[in-house]
Amino acid sequence: MNSLTENRHTRISASSATAVQRSERLIARNINDASLAMRRLSRALVVLACCIAPQTPCFATTPEVELDHMTWTEVQHRLASGSTTILIPIGGTEQSGPYVALGKHNVRAYLLAQKIAQTLGNALVAPVISYVPEGSIHPPAGHMRFTGTISIPDSAFESMLEGTARSFKQHGFKDVIFLGDHGGYQKNMQKVANRLDREWANDPSCHVVALNEYYQAVSVTYVNTLRRRGFSMAEIGLHAGLADTALTMALDRSLVRSDAMSHAAKPTEADGVYGDPRHATEELGQLAVKQIIDTSVAAIKHVTATR
Ligand SMILES: [Zn+2]
Repeated sequence: MNSLTENRHTRISASSATAVQRSERLIARNINDASLAMRRLSRALVVLACCIAPQTPCFATTPEVELDHMTWTEVQHRLASGSTTILIPIGGTEQSGPYVALGKHNVRAYLLAQKIAQTLGNALVAPVISYVPEGSIHPPAGHMRFTGTISIPDSAFESMLEGTARSFKQHGFKDVIFLGDHGGYQKNMQKVANRLDREWANDPSCHVVALNEYYQAVSVTYVNTLRRRGFSMAEIGLHAGLADTALTMALDRSLVRSDAMSHAAKPTEADGVYGDPRHATEELGQLAVKQIIDTSVAAIKHVTATR
């Protein structure tokens, strides 16, 4: 092939390749359009079902509360319509023995914050904070002795909370509420809330609250409920025991290895378990879910009503 023929051949190949790409893109766009149409149709059918049968749970009318799923304009609109409270769910990534997944606190804090926000009706939920202080990394202390636990310094955690609260004040939220699912950092949450409230004393357009009631609903109220039902403190436990495991099961059963747990010997502190989780059930956990939501909603209404 001479160079002229070769160039022409290359041009023809390139143009046919472009034509192929163009038709592939067209096909892909048609498929996307078709799936978008299907999604719109199914959403329309849900709305239609709600109109025809009002007793059917209507997802279309459930207000969105997660910032993660909203655009900035939607958040701005909700703020202008009176959703001026922002809940900051704080979890942690820590071991909870051989039967409960490492993200227990993250999943619980996020789901509970959503339920609390939906009940309040004027609150939105920030993304969950899942990196928290868990003690010394080297040498490892506490939960850090177990694989998968993540620990960050207290100062980094407090800076993250502070930056988060300042961000929401900047955007016009009036109440920033820290919901901490883990016991160890409650003091850090309180410290940050106190510091910002002192700083903003002359500009009270925004308040920060470390909601102790959220954590106490489990550590005090729920523990007392379980004791009244005949469970011992040795079984209820302090970490990954009956109380902790039941609450996790009630919110996301996939996080608990129930079958293996029910057939196992009692796990010990060497396994990372302080208590005995083997009699934990979803039903028991639902008691805690209700107590946390009721207590938190009442406490948030109380602190926001006085402003
Ligand atoms: Zn914890």
